[in-house]
Amino acid sequence: MRNYELLRNLMVETQLIPRGIKDKRVLDTMRKVPRHLFMPEKYRDDAYEDMALPIGEGQTISQPYMVAIMTELLELNGDEKVLEIGTGSGYQAAILAELSREVYTVERIESLGDNVRLKLKEMGYDNIYVIVADGTKGLPEKAPFDRIIITAATPKIPECLIEQLNDGGIIVAPVGQRFSQILIKAKKVMGTMKEEYHTPCVFVPLIGEHGWKE
Ligand code: SAH
Repeated sequence: MRNYELLRNLMVETQLIPRGIKDKRVLDTMRKVPRHLFMPEKYRDDAYEDMALPIGEGQTISQPYMVAIMTELLELNGDEKVLEIGTGSGYQAAILAELSREVYTVERIESLGDNVRLKLKEMGYDNIYVIVADGTKGLPEKAPFDRIIITAATPKIPECLIEQLNDGGIIVAPVGQRFSQILIKAKKVMGTMKEEYHTPCVFVPLIGEHGWKE
């Protein structure tokens, strides 16, 4: 049994702070949430390494730094209704749930979604809703949202997601080609999107009606 708490602190000190993550609430949350419990047992000892790792079904849990920067860019203050597209392991959803009011997270692969729903319940999260569906269409029945995060690579931010975002809201997403993207933060200001470009990144593809075809 590793000392996971120590590894989490090391992760924050060596991977997040030196790369410029500053939001204290984000750093504290990443010191707290047990990332290793979101991955298959055989990878648990690597949970706090500086990389993405496989979670089954050809999908991955994002690198800790990527989770931290995306969360920081969302500027959460605790009162937001958040939509995540791409539940994967559920780790990002748990981080978001610690920092906002409620999180709706959409996953396309049923087995992953069902797994995460059980896990989050066991862990005591009661403000995360896992929905199995094509997240490229958003979640119109629960819209509007204050924040939207897409955790899979997308050729562009789907128009319907912009429609489901409140004015003043923020979308963070890896946008670009299938095998390389740029992290974009887009803020909705009086109906138009103001974009900022951040770090290059590589995510698994967003597959669906407004993403890529299978
Ligand atoms: N946020 C996750 C990492 C996500 S990996 C974590 O913290 O672990 C990207 C996920 O997006 C994969 O699980 C993939 O199945 C899912 N995905 C791909 N296309 C999707 C779509 N159209 N709707 C919902 N989820 C999708």
